[in-house]
Amino acid sequence: MSRLLVASRNPGKLRELRVLLAGEDISLETLSAHKEVGDIEETGETFEENAGIKASHAARATGLWTLGEDSGIVVDALGGAPGVLSARYAGVHGDDVGNNRKLIADLQGVENRAARYVCALALANSEGEVVATVHGVSEGRIIDEPRGSAGFGYDPYFVPEGETRTNAELSGNEKSAISHRGRAVRAFVPILRLHLRLQPLDG
Ligand code: IMP
Repeated sequence: MSRLLVASRNPGKLRELRVLLAGEDISLETLSAHKEVGDIEETGETFEENAGIKASHAARATGLWTLGEDSGIVVDALGGAPGVLSARYAGVHGDDVGNNRKLIADLQGVENRAARYVCALALANSEGEVVATVHGVSEGRIIDEPRGSAGFGYDPYFVPEGETRTNAELSGNEKSAISHRGRAVRAFVPILRLHLRLQPLDG
């Protein structure tokens, strides 16, 4: 079984990534078991860049093959904001309540509610070199009143294309079937198998 470090501290993402990668012959490790990694500064201008920065930094610090994930929500009427600043849109990293409040305030009186979630994944080898990057997108729209209690972050305000429910009203499996992260992971799995020489467990 191969080891793979996931360079994230976001419990919502880690939960989803664990389920999405459950069928692979890998032992997933997280940053909570690797304090030597420290804080990673997200200085990139794109999701792909930031995913690469996270993967490479954590792989260098640990000597482990590492998955870096960067994601966020892109709102057309806000010129692409919050974008790569999604986790700290209201100023404090990970303040979901504040971020949602600011998003809805910024969209007051705005008719165009088109938005998309984007997820970039980068794989770094044990030397910290990024060997592959993929991304996944989920189109949808923002509503004013929150609905549902599943998911995390902006999910109670995001209705994916083809749905009447918000992401937070979907089950974990329903969300992953159409989500940016689900799509990115499905594109990523063959690359992961190739690099880690994994035997698929599902044949
Ligand atoms: P990151 O940790 O810098 O990649 O920030 C990701 C941020 O984007 C999260 O803190 C959430 O605010 C938002 N985000 C990303 N993916 C999702 C999702 O699946 N649901 C809800 N919010 C998400």
